[in-house]
Amino acid sequence: MWVRKRIDIGWLDLLSASARCVVPGSRPVASERAEAAWSADGRAFACLSVRSGLDLLLKALELPAGSEVLVSALTIPDMVRIVEHHGLAAVPIDLHDMDASPHVELLEKLVTEKTKAILVAQLFGSRFDLAPFVDFAKEHDLILIEDCAQAFEGDRYKGHGEADVSMFSFGPIKTATALGGGIFRIRDEALIARMRTLQAEYPVQSRWFFFKRVLFYTVLKILGGKLAFALFVRTCRLLGKDFDEVLNGSIRNFPEDEFFASLRQQPSLPLLKLMIRRIRNYRNEDLDRRAARGALLASLLPPENCPGASASSHSYWVFPLRVDDPPRIVAAFREAGFDSTADSSMQPVEATDGRTEAAPETARGLLKSAIFLPLYGEMPESEIRRMAEVLVPLLRDAEPAKQPTLHSQTNPL
Ligand SMILES: *Cc1c(COP(=O)(O)O)cnc(C)c1O
Repeated sequence: MWVRKRIDIGWLDLLSASARCVVPGSRPVASERAEAAWSADGRAFACLSVRSGLDLLLKALELPAGSEVLVSALTIPDMVRIVEHHGLAAVPIDLHDMDASPHVELLEKLVTEKTKAILVAQLFGSRFDLAPFVDFAKEHDLILIEDCAQAFEGDRYKGHGEADVSMFSFGPIKTATALGGGIFRIRDEALIARMRTLQAEYPVQSRWFFFKRVLFYTVLKILGGKLAFALFVRTCRLLGKDFDEVLNGSIRNFPEDEFFASLRQQPSLPLLKLMIRRIRNYRNEDLDRRAARGALLASLLPPENCPGASASSHSYWVFPLRVDDPPRIVAAFREAGFDSTADSSMQPVEATDGRTEAAPETARGLLKSAIFLPLYGEMPESEIRRMAEVLVPLLRDAEPAKQPTLHSQTNPL
């Protein structure tokens, strides 16, 4: 069984991380090193997660209550929760049907005198051109925030030079994971300084917490790719836990105060050390291998079923497939030894009352019809081809043209 997702971390990373949980060291020095490893210009900021960093950013910005943030219409719900917690309204920017990038043409229609910022997510591992968003943000004096949590590209992309903030995640299901952690690149030095001051007031994540996390994901990695994995998924279900949430270390269902308490911590020393290790040692070839698998699969499937595949740059963090009947395809695909899922950690961003013109129809449709295929560099090309061989007839069967017509029913032959 090819499992839906493999945790992107090596045995040596895990071993080194658990050792770091007991070795003493200076946390501030590790933090500086992690930031310098990301970007030598002093504009990098290390934090506990992208969500923690966004919360700090909005604290530091102190936007007037009731301000609006234009948010690309598909993202993880926590991002919207954080925006709203700061007294701001999230207004969705719907996506293009084919490459899943936010519609820049919609900005003109959505912007009001209350709009203060734009938050756009680079989805699935693909990356759209930020330039028109940069121009629009400049013209309207808006803060441009780029969410690259799904778009880690090794040392090839550290954020758009003209975005105000670019955010990268080292969370458990992300590429080059450090089992947590986030790195931001921030243009305004005064803003970074305010965020540092605010973060310094937070308690530090405990090493014991991080150690338990390393153990948990070590067990998951042992199960990954084995039959035992299916058993694990079933056990989660029996315990009333959603497997994808467990994998994600999701804290989606925490009540408000616990949710923010869990975000408002400084990264622990072993987490920072693991981030440094992942940033310094990451091999771009691993990314290339996965991107090549994704491009091969996309080339073998009908383009209209592959949202995002037409993006100019794509590393295939995930491979979404548009289907007419997700449960049917997931079940049939499982028979062939491929574990896919119709569950996504993402949700459409819903328009608040009064902004119903912004309803995210395309994002809703995309999420409702998408399943996520297993895809990682370790899968041999022959298995990628087999995936397509299994999928193509399944997708074709769904076409209404297959229905018998009156003519064929009465055909004497
Ligand atoms: C994973 C993800 C995040 C959150 O990253 P954390 O570091 O876990 O907080 C934010 N946005 C998107 C689009 C993501 O996929």
